[in-house]
Amino acid sequence: MLHDADMIAAADGWRTRDLDVLWHPCTQMREHPGVLPLVPIERGEGAWLVGRDGRRYLDAVSSWWTNLFGHAEARIAGAIARQAHTLEQVILAGFSHQPAVELAEKLLAIAPREPGRAPLAKVFYADNGSAGVEVALKMAFHWFRNRGEGKRTRFVALHNGYHGETIGALAVGDIPLYRRVYAPLLAEALFAPSPDSYAAEPGETAADCAERAAEGLRELLERHSGEVCALILEPRVQCAGGMRMHDPRYLRRARDLCDAHGVLLIADEIAVGFGRTGTMFACEGAGIQPDLLCLSKGLTGGFLPLAAVLATQAIYDGFLDDSRERAFLHSHSYTGNPLACAAALASLAIFDTDDVLARNRATAARMAALAASIVELPHVADVRQAGMIVAFELTRDGDRHAPFEPAARIGLRAYRAALEGGVVLRPLGDTLYWMPPYCIDDEQLHLLARVTRDAILEATACA
Ligand code: PMP
Repeated sequence: MLHDADMIAAADGWRTRDLDVLWHPCTQMREHPGVLPLVPIERGEGAWLVGRDGRRYLDAVSSWWTNLFGHAEARIAGAIARQAHTLEQVILAGFSHQPAVELAEKLLAIAPREPGRAPLAKVFYADNGSAGVEVALKMAFHWFRNRGEGKRTRFVALHNGYHGETIGALAVGDIPLYRRVYAPLLAEALFAPSPDSYAAEPGETAADCAERAAEGLRELLERHSGEVCALILEPRVQCAGGMRMHDPRYLRRARDLCDAHGVLLIADEIAVGFGRTGTMFACEGAGIQPDLLCLSKGLTGGFLPLAAVLATQAIYDGFLDDSRERAFLHSHSYTGNPLACAAALASLAIFDTDDVLARNRATAARMAALAASIVELPHVADVRQAGMIVAFELTRDGDRHAPFEPAARIGLRAYRAALEGGVVLRPLGDTLYWMPPYCIDDEQLHLLARVTRDAILEATACA
């Protein structure tokens, strides 16, 4: 048994070895180790991450929004192990395997449906969220081209949206921090107003914001009639854009406008799919069905990278021809990896056996009650919630029109304070949010609320 001092020394050793060889994602490496502590993790247990130094951290961000049922969940781990002893990987061009077929069947059975619209009928696999977005964009463009509508070359995306980091996905994203440097490399997308209800004008309701944004979309589609192949959006919550939420009526309007203009609708549910916003898919909350649906992150319960793009039969049929050029030749080596598909099947089975959506409703109600005590803090301008996502907006004096100076790095201060308190919050700028694994229990929720409150007070103490 190691003593505390030995464990702390072991963690320090790992930090040194790490910084000698690793280049971390989404990080100014100069900030390690001085500004940002690097946290070596030994193992995961439910909603906990356990550090090499023995400290426990509540994973309130579900490890970049991937984890659904807790770390090292035994049923998913077991399914992966069994699959690994049977078939770990096989080329999916020209070959098939049971987990890929069964997962596609299951996804199509639970996909959002809209009365009177032909259902999503085919599944194309990729191996991470950004790759899934690339697939959907290429499919939309190529489908129109195959139909002889080669002038439809443009994508409409929403202000403040995010769809990943690869060049195509970045082109339809609108977060300056990630996009600006690479702007010269990016295809020019058309951006429609965000329906974000936090940006409401005085006297406006969330429904008014939705209506105003839909009008902007209508004008844009009219101005570029015949040029647009698809609208891509994150239904209900623009996650990386600061957990900005919108009224579901916007999605209804967007669906109708796409239909009116012959434009495909791509729903990016990579972050909000699989029960995050209350329903299995966020589109369901608005009663709409997209033409292309992008899924990843929680698809495997957070165990392995995998993406699925669901398409209608009409889109699939548009690629059937004698010519190879009219086929969708996109491929990734690990497309439909059997281990990842087995993890996804095990994860989806848990939704049924554990009645997860009902449990989430109860957990979300507890999160709402706990968040109510935080909204009273002087620097909290807004608390908003969509199911298992709660976000807190920190501003000067709680005035939503008076953000903190970015240089004050209030979010970073809150991150460090929360980490000290044993909770992983990873603010987006000055937006703090809770997006915990669904297995989070009452005691953990109370810890989360207390540490969040203390972290906000500490971060804003000298503001
Ligand atoms: N779309 C959305 C809505 C996302 O939130 C993300 C990841 N944060 C992506 C796409 C990209 O997924 P990945 O990180 O797996 O490439």
